[in-house]
Amino acid sequence: MTAWEPVIGLEIHAQLKTRTKMFCRCEVGFGFEPNARTCPVCLAHPGALPVPNARAIEWTVKLGLALGCEVAARALFHRKNYFYPDLPKGYQISQYDVPLCANGRFSVPGPDGDNEIGVVRAHLEEDAAKTVHVGGGTGRKVGSAHSLVDFNRGGTPLVEIVTAPDVRSADEARRFLQLLRQTIVELGISDAEMEKGTLRVDANISVRRPGEGYRTRWELKNVNSFSFVARGIEVAIARQIELYESGGSVEQETYDFDPDTNALTPHRSKEEADDYRYFPEPDLVPVEFPSGEVERIRAELPEAPGARIRRIGETLELEAAQVLVANGRDPLYEALVEAGVDPRTAANVVLNEASALDPAGVDAKELARVVEARSELPRETYLEAIAASASAGFRADAYLSQRAVSDEGELAPLIERILVANPGQVEAYRNGKEGLLGFFVGQVMRETEGKANARVVSELVREQLAR
Ligand code: ZN
Ligand code: MN
Repeated sequence: MTAWEPVIGLEIHAQLKTRTKMFCRCEVGFGFEPNARTCPVCLAHPGALPVPNARAIEWTVKLGLALGCEVAARALFHRKNYFYPDLPKGYQISQYDVPLCANGRFSVPGPDGDNEIGVVRAHLEEDAAKTVHVGGGTGRKVGSAHSLVDFNRGGTPLVEIVTAPDVRSADEARRFLQLLRQTIVELGISDAEMEKGTLRVDANISVRRPGEGYRTRWELKNVNSFSFVARGIEVAIARQIELYESGGSVEQETYDFDPDTNALTPHRSKEEADDYRYFPEPDLVPVEFPSGEVERIRAELPEAPGARIRRIGETLELEAAQVLVANGRDPLYEALVEAGVDPRTAANVVLNEASALDPAGVDAKELARVVEARSELPRETYLEAIAASASAGFRADAYLSQRAVSDEGELAPLIERILVANPGQVEAYRNGKEGLLGFFVGQVMRETEGKANARVVSELVREQLAR
């Protein structure tokens, strides 16, 4: 039996964090009173005219270039017509046959080498408003008493990224999404947080025999974390294979995935037919983004995450490299390695012990000094030093020399010496004069010029006296 090959395409919407909306000057943001950020344009009052947000266009170009896309010399806005209560105009201004950015590719390193995922398009559109289902107890559409619409989100700029069906596994989808998200965050154009809805992912999934054409696909909608997307994809793949192998067929369908039960339930569609009657938006002129600007933006792009993973993967396991880059921790990692820390230790420090630190505030050379000293330091002191290393002007040597001595290896011989020098007190203590503990601790403190950690010293003294 030939194995089945998964065929996965991804569709991602990222909300741009521009100050104002896509076609009006209403403020973009969270936590405002419902419907407090609206105007005649985003509420679709008759006669109101859209004016495109220049920054949103520039940022889409920026992302498109980071995804290896070509930038259209003359991009068009279209009207995508459908009826839904969260869409006041009865159409969404989007892009259709001439998107701002198209034909890109994005490299995703994997265990079997890199996979280049084609980017069909990265276009700009406006978001719909938000429908809030209330009453009925569940907060879901089904069973709610009524629905309210909050138009604050309506008209917010969205960039939509559509990949080619080049993704070959659920895990690869997860890695692609992590790297795409990190790219978006590093460009500073969106918070791209799935929990907040500023990043949304849909997946198209089918399976086939290797070498075959594409078979019928399922669409998975609105899954709210990367690991749930991956799990939903896995469930869909398994279900489709099961259908084919039991002699059945796969019908085109859109599903919601419930991560609690692993269930795929048919998605209630917004409209019956997928006929959006696209036509060019007559109120907007074509976007002719200056080619000089394209080159300026291209020159300022950060290094692609795939290239960074490949470089780091030369000295570290791929998964560790992926985690470093996907979380933007790789610059600190590389600085530590540069400062002489061995790669595996550096990755461990950056991802675990120093994971709470903002890399921007860390002097890697000083942090490397702390890491270097770690085998001589009690764990507690080491972790405190790591935490302190993010403070301004931190100097590892000064910090560590001021620290209380609480290293057992250093204290134990000293305590032993003191006990040997004071046999009378030792005997008295062992005969029940426990108050003498303070005497011994005091001796240790004197010998260490007050640098010993008194709590650790008294524990060690008690231990030695009990022998
Ligand atoms: Zn508005
Ligand atoms: Mn869209």
